[in-house]
Amino acid sequence: MTTPINPQKLSMLNGGNLLNNKYIDSFLRSRWYPGIIQYPTLMIFMLIMFQLILGPEAAHDNFGTALTWVLWWPLIPIIFLFLGRFWCAICPFATINDLVQKFVGNNRPVPKFLKKYGVWIIDALFIFITWSDHVWGVVENPLGSGILMLTLTTGVVVSGAFYERRAFCRNVCFIGGLSGNYARNGMLSLRGTPEICATCTVASCYKGTDQSMPCPMFEFPKTMTSSANCVICAECIKGCPNNSIQLTLRPPTKELWFIRKPKIEEAFLSAVIMGIVFVQNVTMLEAWNPMLRWLEELVNTTSYYVTFSITFLIALSIPVGLLGLTSWIASKFNKVSLVENFARFGYAIIALDMAGHIAHNLFHLLAEGGAIYVTGLGLFGLATHGMSTALVGMDVIQFLQFALIVLGFLGSLLTAYYIAKNNSVSGKVWATFIPYAVLMVVLTIMNVVLFTLPMAMRM
Ligand code: SF4
Ligand code: SF4
Repeated sequence: MTTPINPQKLSMLNGGNLLNNKYIDSFLRSRWYPGIIQYPTLMIFMLIMFQLILGPEAAHDNFGTALTWVLWWPLIPIIFLFLGRFWCAICPFATINDLVQKFVGNNRPVPKFLKKYGVWIIDALFIFITWSDHVWGVVENPLGSGILMLTLTTGVVVSGAFYERRAFCRNVCFIGGLSGNYARNGMLSLRGTPEICATCTVASCYKGTDQSMPCPMFEFPKTMTSSANCVICAECIKGCPNNSIQLTLRPPTKELWFIRKPKIEEAFLSAVIMGIVFVQNVTMLEAWNPMLRWLEELVNTTSYYVTFSITFLIALSIPVGLLGLTSWIASKFNKVSLVENFARFGYAIIALDMAGHIAHNLFHLLAEGGAIYVTGLGLFGLATHGMSTALVGMDVIQFLQFALIVLGFLGSLLTAYYIAKNNSVSGKVWATFIPYAVLMVVLTIMNVVLFTLPMAMRM
């Protein structure tokens, strides 16, 4: 039987504690952090909302659309990779939640069903929002984007008014679900020092102190094994009387090798994200319209609701079905049930998900990035018609996209291998790993094919 990898040994791969750096430590402990980033972000959000709802009707003239979909959406998966879920510490929705809570909060406990089914609710919302974006044109329509933001704002206002801490961010927000999955793959990790926490009875990292807030995400650094819900808000760093908190760098994907209690809903989300990346790419291909005409003839309707829903369902079913099929094949070798294999190895797809997500949005960032400047000048009434929005050529973008997909593939392959190795009860590491290696090759080829085809602009 193969010896599982010892997480302690692998911790040697981690960098040292970043809090040993006096500048990082004093910045995070300062009473200005995270407000100094949070409140300017809230101001920018208000400008975006104003533009989306009252600004130019055409997306390519709207500064709010450019900042949201050309800058913010492509940048957040990159932030998750380097800084974990830090975005959620400064997210305007979280800030609104905190402000509402401060003034009119009832601080009721989070309902049990939200705690139990939160990730499934996030899965369903994520699928619904992607579907509605395509059928109602949320991204292409500034007002549609504004309504989406207002809906999320209503959600956090209600949640902040009734429930304790950041109940919405932890249990309902679809961006939070995505960021939770990606933060596991990320390079930043915050944990308590086991030897120090073992003798601690105050738990002020969780409960808060006079100088610090309770952990807004209901995390307890003493027992935390995942970065999925830590937003690096530093409240626990300020609140711990024993200087136990460590902030370390780690190799990307490392947390995914040691998931102790895999959850099928999180594995399902990682497969669904792959399907969503497929659907985003397919609908932006120049070949999409001819495909749509063909589908209309096949199902004998021109209703976009019907034709898109069929395409959407197929795109989501492919990675979920392939993961299910692979898990069934692996179960023949490792004698673990299909469901358990599905839950364990679903996490291995996250690296490829993230690479596909960044690669897809790199097109928007680099081919349309100039739209931020162009629409920004438009705010001051300066005419910019005919100005190019491309920051670099398509050949550079495609090279970067393929490089990302290769890195994502290697990350997923490595993760599948370590999951097989660390959970081997029958010694069948390679027999378990090989079907998943084939799955990663298939998903990678599908991504590569999609990225070789010409894409249409968003703005
Ligand atoms: S992080 Fe600090 S406050 Fe929290 S359990 Fe450990 S020692 Fe106690
Ligand atoms: S664990 Fe610490 S840094 Fe992470 S969300 Fe909770 S209080 Fe903030």
